[in-house]
Amino acid sequence: MQSSISQSPIATPKTSVKGRIHSLESCGTVDGPGIRFVIFTQGCPLRCLYCHNPDSRCIREGQEVTVDELMTQIPKYRSYMRFSGGGVTITGGEPLMQPEFVREIFRRCQDQGIHTALDTSGYVNLDVAKPVLDHVDLVLLDIKSFDPKIYFKITNVSLEPTLAFAQYLSEIKKPTWIRFVLVPNLSDNLESIEGLAQFVSSLGNVENVEILPFHKMGEYKWQQLGYDYQLKDTPSPTPQQVQQVMEIFQRQGLHVQ
Ligand code: SF4
Repeated sequence: MQSSISQSPIATPKTSVKGRIHSLESCGTVDGPGIRFVIFTQGCPLRCLYCHNPDSRCIREGQEVTVDELMTQIPKYRSYMRFSGGGVTITGGEPLMQPEFVREIFRRCQDQGIHTALDTSGYVNLDVAKPVLDHVDLVLLDIKSFDPKIYFKITNVSLEPTLAFAQYLSEIKKPTWIRFVLVPNLSDNLESIEGLAQFVSSLGNVENVEILPFHKMGEYKWQQLGYDYQLKDTPSPTPQQVQQVMEIFQRQGLHVQ
């Protein structure tokens, strides 16, 4: 959910499951392993202060596409995916706002031997998520803070569903990467990060932790939409701060990048 956008969606109506997307990126390299076809879905229940795609919030906006349309595009990039160990990532917005659409894309990708990754905030009803997870090879789970008050300040929703989602992923042994955005003066409390690292380490299914330094690449979109960008005076973390946080996770025996 931190990626930039590079390509507009296609539009040839056919009959199949439909969904609404914000955009597509044909050769993404930051949303899971290898080179990936990335689908940014429309709609998100969170209101993250640092969101790069604030125009993806409303589920009624974006562009309607069918799974058939997407499945005519995706196989074109198969050779890139194969040699790089990549696949398809669905991110957002929040993909689990459109569970049938996402499930059908993943199901058809897996039928063709294409690796599937779901990037989610985990702020979702578990009963809605479970059928989707049946067709997910890897979950990229964004945990924006381990402090409920800070989590709410960042996202405007509660932390608890995301932790319950993480626990469920652990129970079903679903391969998972955790993503944490380090924002100075907001998500950088070391005690809270220590708590998050202990929690993540206890799960047993986490293959990788990504520390994402805050930056303001999406600020112009907030201005275009007339939204108040509250982090305009917030700096990016220094390399030393990022290293310090990485070491907290590494001390818990986690692989960090
Ligand atoms: S989860 Fe947050 S960062 Fe991701 S799309 Fe929603 S509001 Fe933006």
